[in-house]
Amino acid sequence: MGATDRLRVVVLGAGFGGLELVARLSAAFGDEVDVALIDRSDHFVFGFSKLDVMFGRQTAAQARHRYAAIVKPGVRFVQAEIDRIDPDARRVSTSAGDFDADVLVIALGARMDPAATPGLTEGGHEFYTNDGAFAVRDVLAAFTGGHVVVGVASTPFKCPPAPSETVLLLHDFLTERGLREQSQITLVMPLPTPVPPAPTASQALLAAFSARGITFRAHGAVRRLDPDRQVAILDDGDELAYDLFLGVPVHRAPQVVVSSGLAVDGWIPVDPGTLQTQWPGVYAVGDVTSVGTPKAGAFAEGQAAVVADAIIASVRGQGDAAAYGGRGICYVEFGHDAVAGIDVTFGAGQPPTGVFDAPSPEVAARKAEFGRDRLRRWFGA
Ligand SMILES: Cc1cc2nc3c(=O)[nH]c(=O)nc-3n(C[C@H](O)[C@H](O)[C@H](O)COP(=O)(O)OP(=O)(O)OC[C@H]3O[C@@H](n4cnc5c(N)ncnc54)[C@H](O)[C@@H]3O)c2cc1C
Repeated sequence: MGATDRLRVVVLGAGFGGLELVARLSAAFGDEVDVALIDRSDHFVFGFSKLDVMFGRQTAAQARHRYAAIVKPGVRFVQAEIDRIDPDARRVSTSAGDFDADVLVIALGARMDPAATPGLTEGGHEFYTNDGAFAVRDVLAAFTGGHVVVGVASTPFKCPPAPSETVLLLHDFLTERGLREQSQITLVMPLPTPVPPAPTASQALLAAFSARGITFRAHGAVRRLDPDRQVAILDDGDELAYDLFLGVPVHRAPQVVVSSGLAVDGWIPVDPGTLQTQWPGVYAVGDVTSVGTPKAGAFAEGQAAVVADAIIASVRGQGDAAAYGGRGICYVEFGHDAVAGIDVTFGAGQPPTGVFDAPSPEVAARKAEFGRDRLRRWFGA
């Protein structure tokens, strides 16, 4: 412990995982514990808000939630670039100085690498970063119709239902503008079905695509774009002509994770029950791990809760905390103001099991409350 004798918890990344973790620690300990939450950004954006901004349902300003608003006993937010992580010493070097931790939690998410898909930056638009999605809003507003291809470059990718949501919302967007008849929409992704762990959800999505005349192309990854000919070239050599290409880029662990030697086969390995890394007192949660659940906020949040419980149990001397159960609830926009729910559990060594809640305005209301609840708990809003 540090000189103050308060446990020093350093949380890297203020996304879904980091925010959930510090909210739980503050609720349990107040300022009994010294929690530093470090992120390069000064604000948080929900993943689903990217689509809201793209399709004009929310402004970028409404989607940004400032970390300066977080007032939680025991927690201080530090805006800084994290340059190096030393897991042996539990020391982190940042643009705001060094931080020593008794418990270190890495929640740095996934980095988008559009340059890994030649032609994507020149000939298309990625919509998986905040800047990319916010810029697509203007691109869509200026679009006059034609063939829109939504394409995924590789697996794993965040929120597997998001490309399917994108084509369904695009259908509504083009319909409302009187552009649907002169447009085609194609979704290409390197998966057999839209959401493989949830067969009922996949069937419902395929039925919705078919009802709206959206082409779904399974088992296809976009290798590169040829901006001069306006074609997307797939991994099997097939070509898809496009007027507008919206892409999901290759995902990688953040550079600092790779250069600090924490990644194995691309991501941080953790114990699937405890989220501990191979280093004592060092945990990793969310998209930066290879824990075996999808890269989605709902799972990052569930993992953060397990780590929070472990820290609370160890400080209170209460023995072991419950193991991570692999459960997450994902909300899926179907267009026409309806949202579906997928409640899925990835048990260790077992096939995923899940319950599908058909698209409805009621589930849409639950999704809205999910967002409001996080804002209340994380930001006190
Ligand atoms: C279009 C889209 C729609 C989505 N919809 C949903 C949805 O409906 N439901 C859902 O559950 N999930 C959804 N997601 C996925 C969700 O956003 C992510 O899976 C989730 O945010 C992961 O949480 P995390 O804590 O692991 O990482 P993140 O939330 O990505 O947080 C990582 C943080 O680390 C910071 N960081 C990284 N490197 C550094 C560094 N070197 N120095 C300082 N800071 C750094 C980043 O700034 C970031 O704030 C969606 C994603 C997209 C792209």
